[in-house]
Amino acid sequence: MRAVRLTLIPILVAGSVRAQQPSLTVGPVTAAAGEARSGFLDVPAGVDSGTRIPITVARGSRPGPILALVAGTHGAEVAPIIALQRVRAALDPAALRGTVLLVHVANPPSFLRRTVYYSPVDGKNLNRMYPGKRDGTVSERIAHVITREIIDRADYLVDMHSGDGNETLRPYAYWGKLGLDARVDSLAREMALAWGNDYVVIDTARPRDPRASVYTQNTAQLRGKPAITTEAGTLGVAAEEMVERNVRGAFRLLRYLEMLAGDPEVVRHAVFFDRTEVLRSPATGIWYPKVEPDRLVQAGALIGVVTDFFGATLAEVRAPFAGVVLYVVATPAMSQGEPVGMVARPLPLAPSP
Ligand SMILES: [Zn+2]
Repeated sequence: MRAVRLTLIPILVAGSVRAQQPSLTVGPVTAAAGEARSGFLDVPAGVDSGTRIPITVARGSRPGPILALVAGTHGAEVAPIIALQRVRAALDPAALRGTVLLVHVANPPSFLRRTVYYSPVDGKNLNRMYPGKRDGTVSERIAHVITREIIDRADYLVDMHSGDGNETLRPYAYWGKLGLDARVDSLAREMALAWGNDYVVIDTARPRDPRASVYTQNTAQLRGKPAITTEAGTLGVAAEEMVERNVRGAFRLLRYLEMLAGDPEVVRHAVFFDRTEVLRSPATGIWYPKVEPDRLVQAGALIGVVTDFFGATLAEVRAPFAGVVLYVVATPAMSQGEPVGMVARPLPLAPSP
């Protein structure tokens, strides 16, 4: 197959000065210019069971940047996972400049066992394990493989999240403004707006040490690659509107990065949030949310109530400051110390890039 292709190309492009790029190999997957190939990154068994991460390498016909789109870091956040199947089908590598690396399900143990936040194998949150460990537990080994095979190769990265299996959510993005590299900070801001998010959380508190980067997005940024985390989707279901929102985001970003032809669009009137707080349950029992996502709340407003198993109120959770509820847990099971939602304070004016 390959030999045939190699003999055909010189005939087809004889006399052409258009640059073809060489093939790219990621793990066991090799894609020649103008083609998309799929396969699995192997995470071998170690101190616990291994797994395989499904990826696609879409190699454009012309040289250009490498964009990594990562879905399923949290396995029950499914709208981005379904969206990447559609991106794979709709993306024409022949029309592409550069390369798109699709990580279809970053965390297969969590996806297949439908767990929220934590791996069913080691009980760890993959999005707290970066850059990972070669000899760690499976979540750490997944992070290690994704860092080495995907993040180290990429020029740009989007870690695509949604409301987890227990969360309802108003779509937004995280912009990690670290203040270490003005180019990376500025491009990450533009990526959030190009993706189509009109709510952007400014996160200045992420770690600065590349050896303890913790988050997928932060791992890319500390390696000089502009990156964002997106949030669109809800409650473990692939609602059509949210799937399409993720697909649109990917193609909008591809046009913005000039990897696909077409007019780039950037959100003009975004709301930026400069302070956020994840609210945690003070008690174990049954959770009754009292707000919907996107609700504006005053300081002290009731976010929800935890009861014991018989119905007596154990605790109330109130907003620590005035802001917008970006997500809230909408299912009843609640353990002490677990998140119940997040409140974010909007800035009156957009900050400069
Ligand atoms: Zn997530």
